[in-house]
Amino acid sequence: MCGIVAYAGPGDTTAILLEGLRRLEYRGYDSAGVAVAARRKIKRVRVVGRVEELTDPVGADLTGSYPAGIAHTRWASHGPATTANCHPHTDGSGRIAIAHNGILDNAEQLRAEITAAGGVLTSDTDSEVLAHLIAAQLEAGAESLVAATSAALDRVRGTYGVVVLDAREPDTIVAARHGSPVVIGVGDGEMFIASDPAAIAHHTRKVVYLDDGELATVTAGDYATITRDSRRTIKAPVELTAAAEGYELDGYPDFMTREMHAQPEAMRRALAGRLDPRWGTTRLDGILLDARELRSLRRVTIFGCGSAYYAAEAGALLIEQLARIPAEAQPASELRYRNPVVDSDTLYIAVSQSGETADTLVAVEELQRKGARVIGCVNVVGSSIGRACGQGMFLHAGPEVSVASTKAVTNMTLSFAMLAVLLGRIRDLSPADGARLVAGLEKLPAQVEQILADDEHIAQIARTYANASRMFFLGQVRGWPVAREGAQKLKEISYIHAEAYPGSELKHGPLALIDESMPSVVVIPDDDVLERNLSTIEQIAARGGPVIAVTSAELPKSAPITHMIRVPHNSPELDPILLTIPLQMFAYHTAVALGRDVDKPRNLAKSVTVA
Ligand code: GLU
Repeated sequence: MCGIVAYAGPGDTTAILLEGLRRLEYRGYDSAGVAVAARRKIKRVRVVGRVEELTDPVGADLTGSYPAGIAHTRWASHGPATTANCHPHTDGSGRIAIAHNGILDNAEQLRAEITAAGGVLTSDTDSEVLAHLIAAQLEAGAESLVAATSAALDRVRGTYGVVVLDAREPDTIVAARHGSPVVIGVGDGEMFIASDPAAIAHHTRKVVYLDDGELATVTAGDYATITRDSRRTIKAPVELTAAAEGYELDGYPDFMTREMHAQPEAMRRALAGRLDPRWGTTRLDGILLDARELRSLRRVTIFGCGSAYYAAEAGALLIEQLARIPAEAQPASELRYRNPVVDSDTLYIAVSQSGETADTLVAVEELQRKGARVIGCVNVVGSSIGRACGQGMFLHAGPEVSVASTKAVTNMTLSFAMLAVLLGRIRDLSPADGARLVAGLEKLPAQVEQILADDEHIAQIARTYANASRMFFLGQVRGWPVAREGAQKLKEISYIHAEAYPGSELKHGPLALIDESMPSVVVIPDDDVLERNLSTIEQIAARGGPVIAVTSAELPKSAPITHMIRVPHNSPELDPILLTIPLQMFAYHTAVALGRDVDKPRNLAKSVTVA
């Protein structure tokens, strides 16, 4: 979440920074700011609210040409979203400006020290101390901006991606990274720095990723990287692989719609070259384990946050069903804190759209430190989690902008289905079942197209219930992760309270909540628990609760269903992928009916890089 953009070069610095911030907006933020070095002083403009609102003050105040500048979108951790708390922050003299992503754990202590030494802090943030510490190092005779920054960073504990500007050296930017991404874009006589390649990909496709513990000195014509213990590192630029396109609306009303409709194509991309109908199995070349190693696995643990965690649950179920390997899903945000017991026969899988989710990344590092084998399942090539794992499955969903994930989550479950078939066929899944599932996987994209065509019908149902203040999402076994993801989507973008429950648990407590004002969305795959799901519907209807059945099965005419959303049937194992799609559409149309900003829901960020 939150973002950094910086630029050094002859171009229109403020315009380039503002455009970069605009491209980072999808990540979510609460305030934004720009700083440039002007006549031995930092000039900056900061606003609470949208980047658009920066444009006017910047146009008015920061016109003219500046050799370098830094900019930031903030997602507050320390102190509310106020102008004083916006980045860039400066030191007391206005010589140094910094923009920081991440959290400094010992900020309180450093703030106290700075104040005790006579410094004046003007914000509540943790980040501001960096500007003061760097300026103090320069005052004390540090030989360069990068040396001063490195010495200042020796004082802080926590995570950072940071860029630094010095008014006395106005054509240089120093960047540093520890736990929060920083990428340098190498242009022709100009350089870009960002926390996410999306901010700069339209300028250059040659990039250098900073590693944790690395700093860079960047000028228009050059960059030099160095470690915190002052060793030079040699880094050649690599070609940016994530498509820079995909960030435009292309005629769709919003990114969520665009991304929902991109699902068939994204699924075809993920399936391409990975299905092996001859052996009824799949090929996942990014997983660098041979059949013997895969066979010797005794357990699979998948972890991620938010929707990725629900996809992990669907994935664990697929692996358990098809490969008969005990498999479980865990929220990465919990796993990292619970001192997990690592055993060498377990395959750990980290799932994240951005590959930058801080909780998931820390969980990867903690597991690896304990000797675990961790593979990644990420969308963004070159992301921190992808690189930390070094192997895994890329999602190939293409860039995703809307905060509420659609095509990336679908491709997560799709990837797990392919992995489950692979692991299954190494074990006891029969060739016939393997072939049936491979054929099923191939059919999925066209079936998703059919569901997307049912848009107006789903929109009508959504409008019918848009004024409900609460809803249940119920599902059993395969339908359960689908129900959880459906409730999550509705909460995220419509702000209606939605609770997911296993249908079978209803009678053990929550049935007390059912009345005419509590609609229930019941997810019903065409599988062996169909009868149980029908009985769930009966229990709700008997208490006057409206039932929205989302199903791939032919339900009896007598079932007391208020509204029915039918999806095509694929196979009991793969139907959950299809059943997720109408729930996205339902959440979307509910949010639209309520006039919500679907792409940028309040309080949420696209990729949560603060832990
Ligand atoms: N911790 C910093 C603050 O609250 C930076 C947050 C961010 O990453 O945007 O200002």
